[in-house]
Amino acid sequence: MAAAQLLERPPAQPAGEDSPWHTAAACRRDEVGLFFAPSKEPTAARLSREEQAKQVCARCPVLLACREHALAQPEPYGVWGGLTAAERRVVLARRRRRDVELCEPVRVPGARGRIAG
Ligand code: SF4
Repeated sequence: MAAAQLLERPPAQPAGEDSPWHTAAACRRDEVGLFFAPSKEPTAARLSREEQAKQVCARCPVLLACREHALAQPEPYGVWGGLTAAERRVVLARRRRRDVELCEPVRVPGARGRIAG
């Protein structure tokens, strides 16, 4: 099942929230099975399947909207927006680190006790 098809299922589509981006998704058509792992999938098969899914994502007109949706949920499984679940965890960790750094006071070198910002 592709990411866009998953969104059309009632539990994944919040009531009253219209998400037009997935109507233009490249994975709506014929790539069923590329985006989510079957149980007990061998590593080599997973890597190959994920690469094929990413190739579909690369030509998808709603890649960024899909990616941000998957990061915001966050979607725990599958390829969304050209990223695997593991890659999305890395992006989220980087964003959290960046947000923490942006909130930390800046210490001015040589100025004891002074904080800029
Ligand atoms: S970016 Fe990939 S997973 Fe997302 S809608 Fe497009 S084809 Fe589907």
